[in-house]
Amino acid sequence: MYDIIITRKPNKNKIIVLIILLILLVFLATISGIKLADYNKTKKIAEEYKKQQEKINLEELEKKKQEEKKRAEIQKRIEQTSRPFSEEEKDKIAHIYRSTEEKIVFLTFDDGPSKTVTPLILDLLKQEDVKATFFTLGNNVKNNPDIVKRAFDEGHYIANHGYSHKYSDIYSSPEATLNEYNVAEQAIKDALGNQNYTSRLFRFPGGSNGGYYHDAKQSSKAFLRENGIVHLDWNCLSSDAAGANTKETLMQNVIDTMGEKSSVVILMHDASDKILTYEMLKELIPYLKEKGYKFKNIYDLLD
Ligand SMILES: [Zn+2]
Repeated sequence: MYDIIITRKPNKNKIIVLIILLILLVFLATISGIKLADYNKTKKIAEEYKKQQEKINLEELEKKKQEEKKRAEIQKRIEQTSRPFSEEEKDKIAHIYRSTEEKIVFLTFDDGPSKTVTPLILDLLKQEDVKATFFTLGNNVKNNPDIVKRAFDEGHYIANHGYSHKYSDIYSSPEATLNEYNVAEQAIKDALGNQNYTSRLFRFPGGSNGGYYHDAKQSSKAFLRENGIVHLDWNCLSSDAAGANTKETLMQNVIDTMGEKSSVVILMHDASDKILTYEMLKELIPYLKEKGYKFKNIYDLLD
C-alpha cells in the first residue's frame, strides 16, 4: 500500500512538469510565431518604403532633368533673340515659301495678345505640342505683358506687328514704319523683362504688298532692311479678319489657300473677338498632322 503511494506521486509531478513544459513550449512557439510575423511584416513595409523612395527619387530626377532641359531651351532662345539675324537666316526667312521635301507649316497669329483668345490658343498649342509665331501689336503687349511672357516661355516666337495698326500713320513715311516697329519692340522687351530682346521680324499690317499704300510699303520695306529688320507675309489664310463668320468657312479658306503647298505660312488672328479662330484651330491642327505637316516657327530657321 505504502509502495503504491510512493510510485504514484512522482508520476503526477512528472505530468504537471510536462504540462508546464508543454504550456511553456506552446507559449514560446506562439511568441516566436508572433515575432516572426512581425519581423516579416516590418521587412515587407521596409521594402515597400524603399521601393517608394526609389520611385520618388527617379521621379524627382526626371522632373529636374525636364526643368533643366526647359531652362536650357529658354536660354538658347534668349541667345537667339539677342543678336542680329545672320545673312543666312535672313535668306531662310525670305525664302520661307520655297517648296520643301518635307511638308512644313508655320502657324502665325497677328493683332494679339488678347486676354480672351490668346490664352486659349496657348493652351491648345501646349496640348498639341505645337510652336507658333505671334506678330504682336505694341498696344496689346503693353496691356497683356504676362501673356507675351507666357508665349515666349512656352517656345513661341514673339514678332512685331507695329503699334497702332493705323495704315495712315504706319505708312506715312519709312521713318514712321520704323518708329512703329521700335515702339512695339520696346513694349515686347519690357513684357519679357529682357532689354536685349530683338525680334527683327515685322509683319506689315495689311501685308507688305498691295493696297492703297503699296508704294509706301516698298520704301518702308527697304528702310527696315537697312536697319536689320526683315518682314514676313503669308501664303495661306483663314480670312478670319475679313468677314468669314463660321469655323467651317475659316477652315475651308485655309484648305483652299493651302492647296498643295509644301511650305505653308498661315495667317490667323488672336485679337479679342477671334474666338472662332480658336474653335477652327482645334480642328486645323489635327487636320494638318493627319496630312503629314510638321509644325515649325521662326526659331527653327535660326542657328
Ligand atoms: Zn493686323
